Amino acid sequence: MIPQEHFQSKRTWGPEPKYPTVLSIPHKKKEFITIAGPCSIENDRQVESIAQVLSQTGCKYMRGGVFRAGTYPPDEFGLDRKLMRVFFDIAKSYGLQTVMEVLDIRQTWEMPADVLQVGARHMQDYTLLNELSKSNKPIILKRNMGATLDEFLGAAEYLVRNGKKDIMLCERGSATHMKHVRWDLSLSLVAAIKRMTGLPILVDASHGTGRRDIVLDMTLAGIAAGADGYIVEVHPAPQKSLSDADQALPLGIYPELHRKAEKIWRLKNG
Ligand code: PEP
Ligand code: MN
Repeated sequence: MIPQEHFQSKRTWGPEPKYPTVLSIPHKKKEFITIAGPCSIENDRQVESIAQVLSQTGCKYMRGGVFRAGTYPPDEFGLDRKLMRVFFDIAKSYGLQTVMEVLDIRQTWEMPADVLQVGARHMQDYTLLNELSKSNKPIILKRNMGATLDEFLGAAEYLVRNGKKDIMLCERGSATHMKHVRWDLSLSLVAAIKRMTGLPILVDASHGTGRRDIVLDMTLAGIAAGADGYIVEVHPAPQKSLSDADQALPLGIYPELHRKAEKIWRLKNG
C-alpha cells in the first residue's frame, strides 16, 4: 500500500501556466477577418471558381492546402509546387490575400502565401514556432484538438515573445467522446480567450464539426461568442473534394454565411 503522505490535495505536476506576453497584448482596432477556400488546392478551375465567389462576396483571404498529409498514410497528396503558384496568381488576380499551411519550416521559403497557418497537429512544434516567430508574415496558430487553453496560449507565447505581433489564434474543435461531430468546436474557449488577450481569435467550424450541414450555424455561434472572424472550407463540388469532403460547404451557401456572420460581428463590435 502506498503511504498516505504520498498523496497531496493540490496537483503539483506540470509547470505553472506562463504566457506573459500573450496576456499583455491589448485589444486593438477591430477588424472582421474572413478566410475561405478549399481544404486542398486541386486544379486551376476549382481555384478560379472559388476565387470568383469569394471576391464578389467581400472575403479577404483565400485559403488552400498544398503540403497535405492525411490522417492515415499513404494519404499524402498535393505536393504540387506549380499549383501553389497558380493558386497564388489566381488569388491576386481577384484581389485576394492567401493563407497556406506550413508543415515544415523549409517550406516557408518557397511558399508564396501572404499568411502562414500552423495546423492543429503542429501547435506544439516549438522548433517550427521559434522559426516562424522570426518570419515577417502573419501567422495563424490553430489549437490542437487535445490542447487546453493554457497549452494553446503557451504555444502562442513562443510566437510573440520575440516581438512578433501579427498572430491570429484559431479554435478548430477538440477530440471528445461525442459522436455527432468529428471534432467539437469550443465556443467557451473563444469567449474565455477574448477576455485574456487582444490577439484575434478565429473560429473554424469546418474542422470544428466535420459536418457541412452545421458549419454555417456553428460559424455564426462562434462569432456570437466573440470570434474576430472565421475560417471556412468551401468547394464547387463538395462531395468530390480531395480531402475533408464531409465538411466542405457548397460555394452557393458561402455568401449567406459571410453576410450573416458579418451582421453578428457588427452587432458585437458596433
Ligand atoms: C486545414 O486547415 O485544412 C487543416 C488541416 O486544419 P487543422 O490543422 O485544424 O486540422
Ligand atoms: Mn481541411
